[in-house]
Amino acid sequence: MTDSSRNDPGRRHFLKLASGAVLAIPLANRVAHAEDNKVAEDDPTAVALGYKHDATTVDTSVYPARAGEDGAKKVCKSCQLYMGGEEAWGACPIFAGKLVSANGWCNSWVAKAG
Ligand code: SF4
Repeated sequence: MTDSSRNDPGRRHFLKLASGAVLAIPLANRVAHAEDNKVAEDDPTAVALGYKHDATTVDTSVYPARAGEDGAKKVCKSCQLYMGGEEAWGACPIFAGKLVSANGWCNSWVAKAG
């Protein structure tokens, strides 16, 4: 490769586009993957545990653990079993291979240690 080909504006433009595409494809795959893997609220385990993507929609007359001021603080992202960190959706061992919402809740909620 000659020095002149390294400074070719067309080549530089191509490399810039290619590097952008390389970065964009995994991100797009990750978003699509998350959409595909969200646990369904009508999943039998989700129904059995009262899981909701939006914890504020949990029927507290059926699940009093989520009632009151303390109950309102119970969401997946504050649960010991939530593996999503700061992400909006994350894994939970209760729903193997599926993602739960950070703002979701189920009756297996356990306070984060520490
Ligand atoms: Fe959310 Fe915890 Fe229930 Fe998993 S066990 S769905 S993280 S509340």
